[in-house]
Amino acid sequence: SLMTLHIPFDNSYGRLPVRFFTRLTPVPVKAPKLVAFNLALAKELGIETGDETTMELAFAGNAPPEGADPLAQVYAGHQFGGFSPQLGDGRANLLGEVVDVNGKRRDIQLKGSGPTPYSRRGDGRAWLGPVLREYVVSEAMHAMGVPTSRALAAVTTGEPVYRETGALPGAILTRVAASHIRVGTFQYFAAHRDLEGLRELYEYTVARHYPDVTSPTELLQAVIARQAKLMAKWMAVGFIHGVMNTDNTTISGETIDYGPCAFMDEFHPTTVFSSIDVHGRYAYDAQANVIVWNMAQFATALVPLMPDQDAAIEAFTEAVHAMPGLIHQEWLQAFGRKIGIAEAKPEDEPLITGLLKRMADNQSDFTNTFRSLAKGSLMDHFDKVLAFDDWEIDWMGRIIGEKDPFACMAAANPAFIPRNHQVEQMIAAAVEGDFAPFERMLDVLSRPFEDQPEAEDLTRPPQPSEVVQQTFCG
Ligand code: AMP
Ligand code: MG
Ligand code: MG
Repeated sequence: SLMTLHIPFDNSYGRLPVRFFTRLTPVPVKAPKLVAFNLALAKELGIETGDETTMELAFAGNAPPEGADPLAQVYAGHQFGGFSPQLGDGRANLLGEVVDVNGKRRDIQLKGSGPTPYSRRGDGRAWLGPVLREYVVSEAMHAMGVPTSRALAAVTTGEPVYRETGALPGAILTRVAASHIRVGTFQYFAAHRDLEGLRELYEYTVARHYPDVTSPTELLQAVIARQAKLMAKWMAVGFIHGVMNTDNTTISGETIDYGPCAFMDEFHPTTVFSSIDVHGRYAYDAQANVIVWNMAQFATALVPLMPDQDAAIEAFTEAVHAMPGLIHQEWLQAFGRKIGIAEAKPEDEPLITGLLKRMADNQSDFTNTFRSLAKGSLMDHFDKVLAFDDWEIDWMGRIIGEKDPFACMAAANPAFIPRNHQVEQMIAAAVEGDFAPFERMLDVLSRPFEDQPEAEDLTRPPQPSEVVQQTFCG
């Protein structure tokens, strides 16, 4: 009938050897209620929506849609530097894949869908807060042009989830990603000395993500190139992932696994938010180093695929060593655009670092300062005007030669980011049953580069009493 939910599944991961995953259905929940659905994304995926009941049963995992082949993927990973030879989807379930209207294969995965053989001591569940945070932040990242998983749906489960603070409302997120193949997926097969599995994973990954790649060295280089771009994009919007473990680093180059992530308000390069990141391993300015370390772990996992191991180590080392330079190039381009330079050159770097230094000294709001550059009202963001005066003279002198520096800046500097204190306020409202702030944030953040005077309040940095010091995992 016309009201039947239809997802045009075309599953490929489930055809890999059975040791790549555990086939299992999501664990049904008591009283599912659909609280968000991304109709535009659904259209892109070729999904025909059904009636409310069918939708909530489907996206709660109670009644997986026809054609789904639910499974939990296995992987390994370095968590805060320590290696776990076996992790896996402990609270996620891959329903299957679709080939979208652009011909791109995408995973459809439930997160918070119940325990799996990989849950260890976890309950397999998520609570509403992190589900809504991931929904808003991933959609905002997409709107800002940052490669990312997307949010298709959110349901509340009608069941409590127990966390440090007590009982919280349970929820399930449906997320969509280019794939969920991680550095940790390669590490799993390498650590288990499963050369055949490693080879199959390599072939599958190349076919799915990098069809032009002809060798493990080229795959490493291609992933490094994408991750270098991603890091620059994160830094350019003030994003801190929070848990850059190798199991949260994708081969596709998309951002995944939004846990205790956050955006910076005041510019402070060593900012950390995550409650579990005690030593600042994944601080804002550490991300560019950590990704190189993660790519070195990826390279290590690829070594067994090479017939000549010494030659492999030499080629891989060269690729990894080239990464800081690549990230720096991408960073220079991204931050050049933020100050109105379409194609920054190395000699433009002091202008960028000079501004960042002054911003750090003045505790300037990262987003608003860059946004105000495009509006010619930069001075509003500096207490110590004199310190900034000389910078502005140099900057004016430089951008005078640019074609359209103000358009360049307006397209590079968002007016709106999901500010942490506002995300927390939105979550608090949703827990009380009021989803209006969630819907408003989603709407405003879907056009982050547009001035939206009626949403001026969402550009405000936190009051001292509103500052969120820590974010927690789900
Ligand atoms: P993360 O760093 O949040 O991506 O999670 C690391 C590992 O812990 C992954 O294998 C997750 O599937 C697993 N995990 C996280 N939270 C839970 C949970 N509540 N129940 C079961 N497994 C979980
Ligand atoms: Mg993860
Ligand atoms: Mg997680």
